[in-house]
Amino acid sequence: MAAQALASAAHAEGGYATAFPFFGAERRGAPVLAFTRIDDKRIYRKTQVYEPDFVVVLDEGLLETVNVVEGLKDGGAVVVNSVRSPEEIDVGIDAKLATVDATSVALEVLKRPATNSSILGALSKATGIVSIESIEKGIMQVFGDRLGEKVGERNAKAARIAYDRTVVGESHGSRVLKASNKWLPDVRELPMGVAGISLDTDAGAVGPGSFLENKTGSWKVFHPEYDGEKCTMCNFCWFYCPEGCIYRKEDRMEFDMDYCKGCGICANECPAEAIKMVR
Ligand code: SF4
Ligand code: SF4
Repeated sequence: MAAQALASAAHAEGGYATAFPFFGAERRGAPVLAFTRIDDKRIYRKTQVYEPDFVVVLDEGLLETVNVVEGLKDGGAVVVNSVRSPEEIDVGIDAKLATVDATSVALEVLKRPATNSSILGALSKATGIVSIESIEKGIMQVFGDRLGEKVGERNAKAARIAYDRTVVGESHGSRVLKASNKWLPDVRELPMGVAGISLDTDAGAVGPGSFLENKTGSWKVFHPEYDGEKCTMCNFCWFYCPEGCIYRKEDRMEFDMDYCKGCGICANECPAEAIKMVR
């Protein structure tokens, strides 16, 4: 929706634009990509964007698992959702870099960590590719049309606040980034309780899911808080956890925070309300 709102904003300024997402095999809480292509001429190219002018990172945890600047053009810019200053972030190259605490803006304005509208305000401030007024229009058109006018207005407000709070600077990259992990769906993507297979993983455990290649614990905004007094040991949480990171230890459940990605499925499924998600 953010990619579409950006395209809508560019269109409002008289340009041409296309936008589309790319989802892997993963479930809720997993990394996804979206692309926006903007031009002052009609656009015929339909491919993904492999050499972007700008990269927008909605979750800072991705910096540890994905080479987000792969293909970034010389003179390009990176926008990161982070509480840190641009100078404190190393993306592996020297680049213009802007940061904003989009998660806090979203929690303040939307009451949920949906950072896609806030980050558009930061993109406008950092790059000037479109004005904040056009971003607000684009958000009203895309979010407002689908989710209602009030939701559209709140998301436009989040973008404006993020615009005001964005810090633009430079990143001086020095660390060597490993090649990005790529994975395709296979039997290992099934929930642990369903799969019935054994695999050695870098979690030091046995189980399926993307933690085969990613330390998914770095993705989360919220984490489960467990109340052993309420727990009836029904094991629903163990069965439904997509990362296989819940296990039984004597008379209580344990959660492996290195691999819990904060999806909240365990809290949703727990019939005893023994799990709540906290920031
Ligand atoms: S422990 Fe809960 S929040 Fe964490 S990955 Fe598993 S289901 Fe999701
Ligand atoms: S789903 Fe809830 S009640 Fe059941 S084992 Fe998990 S925490 Fe306990």
